Amino acid sequence: MTTHTTRMLILGSGPAGLSAAIYGARAGMKPIVVQGIQPGGQLTTTTDVENYPGFKDVIQGPWLMEQMQAQAEHVGTTMMWDTIVGVDLTRRPFRLTGDSGDVYEGDTLVIATGAQAKWLGIDSEEAMKGKGVSACATCDGFFYRGKKVAVIGGGNTAVEEALYLTNHSDDVTLIHRRDSFRAEKILQDRLFAHPNVTVIWNAEVREFIDGGGNAGLVALDLRDTVTGEHRRLEVDGGFVAIGHHPATELFRGHLDLDADGYVKVEIGSTRTSVDGVFACGDVQDKIYRQAVTAAGTGCMAALDAERFIATAEFAELAEAAE
Ligand SMILES: Cc1cc2nc3c(=O)[nH]c(=O)nc-3n(C[C@H](O)[C@H](O)[C@H](O)COP(=O)(O)OP(=O)(O)OC[C@H]3O[C@@H](n4cnc5c(N)ncnc54)[C@H](O)[C@@H]3O)c2cc1C
Repeated sequence: MTTHTTRMLILGSGPAGLSAAIYGARAGMKPIVVQGIQPGGQLTTTTDVENYPGFKDVIQGPWLMEQMQAQAEHVGTTMMWDTIVGVDLTRRPFRLTGDSGDVYEGDTLVIATGAQAKWLGIDSEEAMKGKGVSACATCDGFFYRGKKVAVIGGGNTAVEEALYLTNHSDDVTLIHRRDSFRAEKILQDRLFAHPNVTVIWNAEVREFIDGGGNAGLVALDLRDTVTGEHRRLEVDGGFVAIGHHPATELFRGHLDLDADGYVKVEIGSTRTSVDGVFACGDVQDKIYRQAVTAAGTGCMAALDAERFIATAEFAELAEAAE
């Protein structure tokens, strides 16, 4: 077992964690990033990225994350291939334990563990991810300009995704397994008033149908949850919008989480309920969930952590001088 110590310990190697690392390293904090089971984060699971600023041409998600990691290492970040399985936030330095048995001690801690989309869990869904099946309309809606798309879900996210997709498609179908939505009324009103959205009630997706060759998704096999009958719905894109799982189980009981399990931060900052612990990216954001917003809050977390250390050190010096 080895103990690694740092002024800034970062959990997660997605855009939030790596941006925090770049800013932390440049502030002289010698950050350590524990990468977790998905080095590079969610963007490594996608291909074309067209909305990350700085690139006129389409770039690939895995390439973007390789570049971020290379930049973080270049300015002095240490990357660790490990996953955190235990935390003690009761005193500083914070003490975290890795799956490897190694211990990580950080004067500050930046949580950037992300949030994973929930999926329906059917085989064809897994096979069709990136070939017509997505969990992010903001990310992929642009690729379905003028095409037929379906959104699956019944909460705020599903209704918002359907409305967002009307910017690109004039044929949006929202499929819900019940006969009413959980979404807020104002969103429902906007949805029902939209001429390009059709709702199919009491239906669940049983299969995402592959057209073969390079066709990708061509249709959905829907089962009526009341009658059990099946029908085929022709679509080019299917957006699963049934919620997200923030990766915060590790922190339950150690710092404040909201009702959906996201880390609570003070508005306008990345400060959590524990002094010296900061959260950035999707793990504290249930609204935007984009690489650029994750990177932006990663920068904020590093600056907040640097200021926290500077203030704490100044207070210690002042106390010693008394
Ligand atoms: C298929 C797909 C396509 C997308 N396309 C786009 C797009 O085109 N444009 C865009 O802006 N956004 C896109 N997104 C959204 C974007 O990827 C996320 O908003 C962004 O990655 C969030 O960054 P993050 O750093 O907060 O978390 P993540 O990228 O989710 O990274 C979380 C990190 O935490 C680590 N981790 C988790 N638990 C632990 C632990 N216990 N110990 C240590 N590490 C841990 C993981 O290994 C991972 O490295 C897409 C998402 C998906 C899934």
